[in-house]
Amino acid sequence: MKTIVVKRKILLVILCFGLISCSLLGIVFGAKLAFSKPAISKTIVIDAGHGGIDGGATGKTTNVNESYLNLVYAKRLEQICKEFGFKVVMTRKDMNGLYDETAKSKKKSEMEKRKDIIESAKPDAVVSLHMNSFSDKNVRGAHVFYGQDNQAGQELAENVAECLNRNIKYAYKNVKVGDYFVLNNSKCASILVECGFLSNPEEEQLLQQDDYIQKFCYNIFCGIYLFFK
Ligand SMILES: [Zn+2]
Repeated sequence: MKTIVVKRKILLVILCFGLISCSLLGIVFGAKLAFSKPAISKTIVIDAGHGGIDGGATGKTTNVNESYLNLVYAKRLEQICKEFGFKVVMTRKDMNGLYDETAKSKKKSEMEKRKDIIESAKPDAVVSLHMNSFSDKNVRGAHVFYGQDNQAGQELAENVAECLNRNIKYAYKNVKVGDYFVLNNSKCASILVECGFLSNPEEEQLLQQDDYIQKFCYNIFCGIYLFFK
């Protein structure tokens, strides 16, 4: 009888030891999993162009507004960036313009506000999103721009253009210097992506398809990710 009690005690000790070991392994394994997530502590400003009374370009076939599509792309890119641990600051989150309603010049007020948001975010990169339009409706494709004398901007633009060109049928690999307010007013790596032409009826349709938006934004993200790598 005494030996049975002793054996039970030994078994109990072994069981407890086993449970504690498993828990410890779980903690260690869990911690390892947590650390293996991509840890990217970068801040990105995502700038949806236009907004409010400034709708930007309009698609002739579907009547879609550029300001709306810019916001759709900005929100999708925000979602992807956040999934990978980036901190994201959006210049606008809805269809309202950034300008002060009482301002004499809404354009000037809007530009100042955009600049203020970018400056106070102290970002590592700025990605401004737009849709293009041209008199010749045959012209199509995505272009990536960077600001004059912005070396980091050029490198970011090249990475993004490379990813887009590899995976999107009509996306130009060559990057260009663009004389845009957002690019001229941010010193960090800043780019402006003209995602496609609303003046091209086929591209106008394509730019609104959910799977295309996902693919497009994912490739912008890949370029950003490669740039920081
Ligand atoms: Zn635009």
